[in-house]
Formats: sequence, structure tokens, C-alpha cells
Amino acid sequence: MAKIVAKKSLGQNFLQDDSVIDNIVTQAGVNKDTDVLEIGPGLGAVTDLLVERARNVVAVEIDDRLYHNLVKKHGHRDNFTIINADILETDLSKIVTDHMIVVANLPYYITTPIITKLVENPCGLKSLTVMVQLEVAKRICADHTQKDYGAISVFCNYHCDTELLFTVPPEAFDPVPKVTSAVMKLSFRDEKAVAPKNEKHFFSVVKVAFSNRRKTLSNCLMQGFSLSREEAVGLITACGLSETVRGEKLSLSDFCKLSDLMCE
Ligand code: SAM
Repeated sequence: MAKIVAKKSLGQNFLQDDSVIDNIVTQAGVNKDTDVLEIGPGLGAVTDLLVERARNVVAVEIDDRLYHNLVKKHGHRDNFTIINADILETDLSKIVTDHMIVVANLPYYITTPIITKLVENPCGLKSLTVMVQLEVAKRICADHTQKDYGAISVFCNYHCDTELLFTVPPEAFDPVPKVTSAVMKLSFRDEKAVAPKNEKHFFSVVKVAFSNRRKTLSNCLMQGFSLSREEAVGLITACGLSETVRGEKLSLSDFCKLSDLMCE
């Protein structure tokens, strides 16, 4: 078969480094009792090891050329299914089995929509071990004591335990990307990190709090919820926070307290 040329528009940077591949699959905890969903198998660098180690592998690949290539390579295996589709258009409830794990070197142009889709509606997924751009991994795994903390950190840490596992240099890929990558693991918990009275309102407060990092939380709340200064400051101080605090300093439980107070 002719060499498959990588399509930049589909975020195709293929992993070349066997030790990185082994590390991803090992840290994901893949074994003979594991069912895996792989997003974007590409040329199959990670897939090759997954089909060796996992009980079952379902891969979703958007690119027809890569789909046909993988059908040829692994289509005969009992424990491998490949679907030629866009993961963002795929009904996960039809392919995710209980306790399935995601292992993927994600296409970077749609990392956030993919993570958001999986975290919001996991359909029984147990964990996501995924390669993303280092900056994105830092943001997702940050807490309120770190500078990368933002709305996406709150969202992911609300649903999952998050851990940045290791970084991967550009040279591990072909073609070589301009950015450094990192592998992170998001493990779904039975319970959310906090229990706000109104989840939708909790996330509205988070969104408003991070809407302008140069503004204090009181200014953000005034603007986002049409409050007077007195009302905004009253809510903030009732949570035991300084009236000049910025949104990025609030922990998940601070956001929960604030949101619950606003719902009273
Ligand atoms: N897993 C391979 C590896 O590690 O070498 C390829 C990773 S490459 C960064 C991303 C892969 O995701 C490509 O194969 C690309 O075609 C695929 N992809 C891009 N957008 C996709 C989408 N919306 N749905 C499913 N796969 C997608």
C-alpha cells in the first residue's frame, strides 16, 4: 500500500516512540479484563499494543484511508472493532460498555470538545488516559493554587480525579508537531467532588467567575448576574472570602458554597 500522508487538518501526528506507547497503555491499566475505546487510532501505533493486551478494543477513526488500513491490519481479530466515524457525532451509549476505558492520542484541534463530551456524558466509562497538548493537560489537571486553573479545571475535577502523568517531546511523533505533549489520566469517581444544590447554576457561577481574569470576583458577579456591588460583596464575604478575591483563587468547595448561597 502507498504511504499514507498525514493530514494536518485532522490533527494527524503519528506516534513513533515504542517506549511512550508502552507507557500510555501500561499507565492506562490495560489488561485481559479491560475493554478499550480508542479515539483516532491513526496508523495503529497504540492499537497494535492494545489488541495484544486488552480483552476488547473499539476504535473510532474519521479518516477513510486509516480506517481501511486498520481493517486490513486487525480486521480479522475477534477482539477488534473499527468504526469509520467522527467521534463528536458518535452515539457513545451504543459503543461504550460498562467500565470501558478510553486510551487515545487525541487530535489536538478538537481536544476540548472531545473531553467535554466524554466527561459530561461518560455512559459508564471508567477512565480516560489521553495524550493532549501539554498546556491543555496543565489546565485540566490544575487546582486553585496553580496558575493554569480555569473553568475547564473545575469542570474536569468536578467529575474526575485528574493526573498529569508524563510529558512527551515533539520528536516522538511523525510529522513532528510544534508543541510539547502530555499524557493525562482522568478517572471517574462515583461521587462528584462537591454537591451543589443546583449543578447548572454552579457551572454558571464558574463561567462568570473566569469570564475576565483581570477583574475581581465581585466585578464578574455584578456583571454576570446583574447584582449590585453590595450584593456581590455580601455573597463573597459570606463564603469567608476576601471581597477583592479573583475567581481563579476559589476552590471547588468555595464555588459550591457561593453557588448554594446564590440559590437561597
Ligand atoms: N493514535 C494514532 C497515533 O498515536 O499515532 C494517531 C493519533 S493522531 C494525533 C489523531 C487521530 O485522530 C488521527 O488518526 C485522525 O485521523 C483522528 N481523528 C481526527 N479527528 C477525528 C474525529 N473527529 N473523530 C475520530 N477520529 C479523528
